[in-house]
Amino acid sequence: MEVVDSQLHLAQGTTKPCLKCKWQIADPTNPDQGQCTVNRTAMGSIWKRWIRDVHNMTCSKHEEGKLSFREHV
Ligand code: SF4
Repeated sequence: MEVVDSQLHLAQGTTKPCLKCKWQIADPTNPDQGQCTVNRTAMGSIWKRWIRDVHNMTCSKHEEGKLSFREHV
């Protein structure tokens, strides 16, 4: 199956891991896992995606940095 680049996918050793992405929220109990908050509906609600491996997963919406506290839910 073809990997759709805009979607969260496994990329072993990627230079743009979810770990360094501003849309990622770390899982407080397991730092290797997290949630992606990049997807927002027109109504403004956030559709979170589970990230199994924040070190080796990425997507084309990757943006380095940290979200401000206000932007988080
Ligand atoms: S926007 Fe992409 S790279 Fe960033 S946390 Fe979400 S899935 Fe990972």
